[in-house]
Amino acid sequence: MRTGNLFVISGPSGAGKGTLVARLVEEVPDAWVSVSATTRRPRPGEVEGVSYYFLPKEEFLALTDEGGFLEWATYSDNCYGTPLSSVQREMGAGKQVILEIEVQGALQVKEKMPEAHLVFIEPPSLEELERRLRGRGTETDDVVKKRMDTALVELSHKMEYDIRLVNDDLDEAVAELVAYVNDTAEQK
Ligand code: 5GP
Repeated sequence: MRTGNLFVISGPSGAGKGTLVARLVEEVPDAWVSVSATTRRPRPGEVEGVSYYFLPKEEFLALTDEGGFLEWATYSDNCYGTPLSSVQREMGAGKQVILEIEVQGALQVKEKMPEAHLVFIEPPSLEELERRLRGRGTETDDVVKKRMDTALVELSHKMEYDIRLVNDDLDEAVAELVAYVNDTAEQK
């Protein structure tokens, strides 16, 4: 069994974090992906307890007061947070714990747990990012515009991460991410 590690994966919405993380889990048997809590509404196909824990805002805020989150942040008018107890449990069980979270939360994690490994996923270009966001077809124009604005802010923080991966060729990006996780886990 390998020692538990914490990996934080960020990058603009549409950079392909979700796909990369799904592929990572297929290739790294001891990887465990944290399920976040959010106040946003489920999108079609999302499943409670799998995609997210969908909580009313009052419940979310009560959990923040109780110290239930490792980190939490507001993003596009909704709150998102990482449940602390499950991250501790899985790290203790020797898992490679993966958080797929936005930048403000990632920087909170770095402050609280400097031993965390921060990975920033970059889109090949802003044009490609916008094309991917529109292609998803689930967001309104207003949401796409807001997320593009947020993307610029997020990209301005990429140098605060331990590594940056450009998600141009998906297979290459997956291979780089898998290698980073395995190399880190095996250095211990
Ligand atoms: P979405 O609404 O598209 O699922 O997620 C919006 C953003 O929130 C994404 O960048 C996603 O990575 C981020 N996010 C998801 N869960 C968390 C969390 O627990 N904490 C933080 N800080 N961000 C999260």
